[in-house]
Amino acid sequence: MSSRSDTVRAPGASRNTPPPAQPPVSKRSPSFAQLEADSLTGRLLDAVVIGAGPAGLTAALELAAADHDVAILEKQPFPRSKVCGDGLISDSIRMLRRLGLYEVVRSQGHALEAARLFSPSQYAVDIPGEFLTIRRDLFDTLLAQAAVGRGASFAVADVLGIEERPGRVLLRCRGTEARLAARLAVVATGADIRPIRSPAPSTPTQPSAVAVRCYARSSVSADRMIVSFDQSILPGYGWIFPLGNQEFNLGCGVFRRGRAGRKANLRTMFQAMLEFFPPAREVVANGALTSPLKGAPLRCGLRGVPTYAGGRVVAVGETTGTTFPFTGEGIGKAMETGALAADHVNTALAAGSLEPLERLPLAIQSALEPRYHGYNIAERWLSHPWVSDFLIKRAQGSEALRNAAAGVLNETVDPSAIFSWRGVVASLIR
Ligand SMILES: Cc1cc2nc3c(=O)[nH]c(=O)nc-3n(C[C@H](O)[C@H](O)[C@H](O)COP(=O)(O)OP(=O)(O)OC[C@H]3O[C@@H](n4cnc5c(N)ncnc54)[C@H](O)[C@@H]3O)c2cc1C
Repeated sequence: MSSRSDTVRAPGASRNTPPPAQPPVSKRSPSFAQLEADSLTGRLLDAVVIGAGPAGLTAALELAAADHDVAILEKQPFPRSKVCGDGLISDSIRMLRRLGLYEVVRSQGHALEAARLFSPSQYAVDIPGEFLTIRRDLFDTLLAQAAVGRGASFAVADVLGIEERPGRVLLRCRGTEARLAARLAVVATGADIRPIRSPAPSTPTQPSAVAVRCYARSSVSADRMIVSFDQSILPGYGWIFPLGNQEFNLGCGVFRRGRAGRKANLRTMFQAMLEFFPPAREVVANGALTSPLKGAPLRCGLRGVPTYAGGRVVAVGETTGTTFPFTGEGIGKAMETGALAADHVNTALAAGSLEPLERLPLAIQSALEPRYHGYNIAERWLSHPWVSDFLIKRAQGSEALRNAAAGVLNETVDPSAIFSWRGVVASLIR
């Protein structure tokens, strides 16, 4: 239950209508076995994956599919709530197709054909594309079910530390003296980097961004994802993602860049979004917020723990900073790096050598670095409100610019095609 201080006032919402009962987590029981950590002791696993988010579950699924004895260790029993916008863009959708999970996720999620972007002065433009929304408790449960279905073990365990020993790693878990043993370990604990406790002194301890979200029920009809750089939210960004069945995920985030970003108060920002951003005001005026406002940090732009620092441990997903700067989308890149890690761990296990693990950072770097570079530039440009006003206003009348923005989202166009002086000049003639 939310405490009083957790609850954000919904301006315009009828005080006489209590919010419909809405559990913070979907009441679906996961239909897979969740073991105790102790049940895995006394056996040398091929690989252990720490953290059951999209990165870890993708890695575990691919390793299990390759017939390895792999266990996922997750500190929270499933289904567990995860603070997220619950939005899947093209990179996540591509990964779901690759894993053979697209149909099941689409059937349980909510499909949308456009994203509407709002500039600081509330110019709006629709960007076409394929988008899905699905609550993370359900999404992650579907991935976990698939991983276990392909042979992975799933155990509830809070991993406190990893010790390297000849030929193996030993994992120390809360509440048990026993150590779990595996040949190799994949750390995918999200923004929480404690289990790996930085092997490199240069690892930033502070996250790059923070974001909050809450759920609402509303009778407004909505057929697109909304992303906003509205004046009331700056220097942050906000979103309204319809989940279907009159349910919405609303939230805002801010990058900790510059003084304004570091000082921003997300609760105040969210309140301002509900009061001054018309689509958010409309959602709450025709319904009610149904959950407390919850926040979480983000690690973006490949500024995180190194993917490989020697030994038998690799790290992937948000732990290594794979979440996109500028949009805060991270599910797709977490899955992509989970798959790349599985590839390299698979080769290392087959070869009986750690050498393939040394190649993982370069593989991730060459797959992702160019995209992050473009998104870092976009993030810097959009910190100037006039730029997003100018571009979104131009895009209203330019199909070519709308298609270029769609290309950025589905990764066929580099963001610098729009966010550069060349891009600005081109937008004037498009
Ligand atoms: C408010 C907000 C909104 C967002 N919206 C979106 C969005 O709409 N779309 C999008 O693509 N991305 C979004 N993101 C980013 C997205 O949530 C992350 O990029 C993504 O979850 C990263 O996946 P991951 O597998 O690396 O880590 P996570 O999903 O964080 O998973 C890590 C797992 O590790 C477990 N864990 C942590 N420590 C331990 C431990 N010591 N032992 C065992 N288990 C442990 C955690 O319980 C968790 O289950 C949002 C983030 C925030 C904060």
